[in-house]
Amino acid sequence: MKRLALILAVSLLFGAVVNVLVAWGCLLRKPFPGSAPWTRGGTAYRWPITVPATWPDKPSSFEQTYGTGWALHTTRGFSESTGINFAGMREHTVEVWHCGWPRAALRAIAITSDSDDPTTTELLDGIPMPGFLLPLANWKPAYLPTRPEPKAFTINTLLYGLPITVPLLIIRPVRRWRRRRAGLCPHCRYPFGASPVCTECGRSLPARAIPESPT
Ligand SMILES: [Zn+2]
Repeated sequence: MKRLALILAVSLLFGAVVNVLVAWGCLLRKPFPGSAPWTRGGTAYRWPITVPATWPDKPSSFEQTYGTGWALHTTRGFSESTGINFAGMREHTVEVWHCGWPRAALRAIAITSDSDDPTTTELLDGIPMPGFLLPLANWKPAYLPTRPEPKAFTINTLLYGLPITVPLLIIRPVRRWRRRRAGLCPHCRYPFGASPVCTECGRSLPARAIPESPT
């Protein structure tokens, strides 16, 4: 059971790491030649995030741009569009980035105050993209999302992690089976004879480990 738990933990950790790398890779991936991000606007599509408590309402209009493994929701003049002014958010742009494949597992929000001089950007749930990656960005994200969307993150992690669980589970039984077939102690690979206990490591040998006599 301990071994099973360890294998599951390793698999899920592996899946989570791959999940994050794939998600960030989707932001950096160059578009295929001739392809462009899709953009659509209006109110027909759901605003993707829960509105923070400091916001008056969901934005009444926004633009959605997306490609394989990423999506960007942008709204401008948010407080004006709702007719409500609140401190520190007069003219601004709110960008919500999602990335991940097959599900949008990570999220970041950037709020840029357009009216301030100089323009300031507040970044939520993301880290600034390292400079050496910026030339690779396929659209214009200057940051890497870090906030997991629980359901999507779980699905991606399982998808990437579980395929290595099976090989990890069977690798040891298969190795021991091959050693027994070769007449070697499954624990230490020392050739065994008729003794029910390995003469090298002292561990007991299963009855079926004793090779059948060919005669
Ligand atoms: Zn042994």
